Amino acid sequence: MTTKPRILTGDTPTGRLHLGHWVGSLENRVALQNDYDCFFLIANMHAFTTRADKPDEIRESTLEIVKDWLACGIDPDRSTFVLQTEIPAIAELSWYLAMLLPFNRVMRNPTLKHELETKNLGDNYSFGFPMYTVGQCADILIFRPELVPVGEDQLAHIEPCREVARRFNQLYCGVDPQINDADYVQAGGVFPIPAGKVGRVARLIGTDGKNKMSKSLNNAIFLTDSFKQIKKKMGGLYTGRTAMDEPGDINNALFDYVRAFIRDPERVAELERKYAAGDNIGDGHIKVEVAEAIDQLLEPMRKRRAPYEGKDGDEKILNLLRHHTQQANDAAEETLYLAKKAMKLDFGPRKIVLE
Ligand code: ATP
Ligand code: MG
Repeated sequence: MTTKPRILTGDTPTGRLHLGHWVGSLENRVALQNDYDCFFLIANMHAFTTRADKPDEIRESTLEIVKDWLACGIDPDRSTFVLQTEIPAIAELSWYLAMLLPFNRVMRNPTLKHELETKNLGDNYSFGFPMYTVGQCADILIFRPELVPVGEDQLAHIEPCREVARRFNQLYCGVDPQINDADYVQAGGVFPIPAGKVGRVARLIGTDGKNKMSKSLNNAIFLTDSFKQIKKKMGGLYTGRTAMDEPGDINNALFDYVRAFIRDPERVAELERKYAAGDNIGDGHIKVEVAEAIDQLLEPMRKRRAPYEGKDGDEKILNLLRHHTQQANDAAEETLYLAKKAMKLDFGPRKIVLE
């Protein structure tokens, strides 16, 4: 058992990973995996909240996301991969936490409201859809992490998790409500109060220039896109500027990409200066330059991903997930038992063994 502080974060298998994931969360995960005991979750149960009719797609995306993680440089020997559906303690803890979260508080969550709008779910969303926000509290708390690296859109989901952790600790572990968040575990609480950690770019805009880049909004540049696809998608980014000598707005979506992906600060400053002045610089040129910078970022990822392509690759991923599921269950069962003990439900710890 390692004594390093823990990280929990993850992705929903509703498609492949994109540049928003990289700048918002993946980059942090890769950087922090030395100093933290990392748990990375595939929220495959939550993928069913909007895609219950697409089990094949969810399975395929699950494998693709693990491949994307490996491509990014996440190291399976240092980090634990968590397949949500295979960790029963998560579903159990979700129930107990649901009892401590006011219904109206869940429904007022701004990210949930926003998702209902942007994903066109209207009034017909499933009962399970808002439940995912409760499930997410359990995903996190079952691993008792201190840090949760996420994009800005998910910060609002971490807040109920922090609230429910405080409430649980106060109610069942006798922790004084007046103490600081950092002291809950020392004071006898089961759960730390986890903090969100937003990445270098809190919210990367999509190639529609409007919404957050999302797997499900058709506005993403995927980590697996070819240079040709990247160039085409960048080319479609609308700026409204029409001539090379027209002063441009350096706060537009194109310049968000310039700052996110061109890594030479002097070049970024030069582009900003020329663009703002309308100094003989076309949007098309900048878009190609950004596409090249993105391509450079993705090239080592393509190389790391290559051994996992195809059916053989799928087998390797399934084996890896199986091995990690055991590890993840060991950690999750330990927390669940501590939580149930605090709730006077200690009828014996249990061990989950895969056959
Ligand atoms: P979906 O459209 O299905 O919700 P998504 O693209 O939003 O998919 P998620 O799996 O919901 O992806 O998010 C995984 C992680 O990546 C979360 O921490 C989220 O905050 C972060 N993230 C997603 N999109 C962006 C983005 N455009 N910029 C920064 N971070 C992002
Ligand atoms: Mg999302």
